[in-house]
Amino acid sequence: MAITKWDLRFMDVAQLIASWSKDSSTKVGAVIADPAHRIVSTGYNGLPRGLADDGARMTDRDVKLRLTLHAEHNAILFAQRDLLGCTIYVTAHPCAHCAAQIVQTGIARVVFASSGSYEERWAADIQLAAELFGDTGVGVERADRSGLAELQRLGQEFDARCEPDQHERCASANTER
Ligand SMILES: [Zn+2]
Repeated sequence: MAITKWDLRFMDVAQLIASWSKDSSTKVGAVIADPAHRIVSTGYNGLPRGLADDGARMTDRDVKLRLTLHAEHNAILFAQRDLLGCTIYVTAHPCAHCAAQIVQTGIARVVFASSGSYEERWAADIQLAAELFGDTGVGVERADRSGLAELQRLGQEFDARCEPDQHERCASANTER
């Protein structure tokens, strides 16, 4: 399945939501959308509600990592509904633990943005997550920043003048409307 205009819209929302994270080193956002293109949940990485997100807990990296809920996990928790067939948009590739949760919800597709240094630091964990998605048939697609810019340009062209079937991406965007 190719990246569509809806994917770009939801990834834009995920990027905005990532900025709400109070984590000083890594800000990740997630959006879950249903097959009818409705947002059913959002999340960003952070400590559980009620825990102060300043002070010692946030400066001790090991403690912070152990207590932090990831964006995908928060989005799944907040959804409080069946997520079968939904797509999750994440501003970084899910870790293995989040991948396991995503698989277990029945989410059918993961769209993630590349995130540079994060991917290097978490390379082994991301590899495990990718294998899990592959083994369980969850679709995974990368929406690179350069690719996003290109698709946004194509989307604007589509809005301006493209006819259906003029080329594959426009046709895809058309059928997704
Ligand atoms: Zn995670």
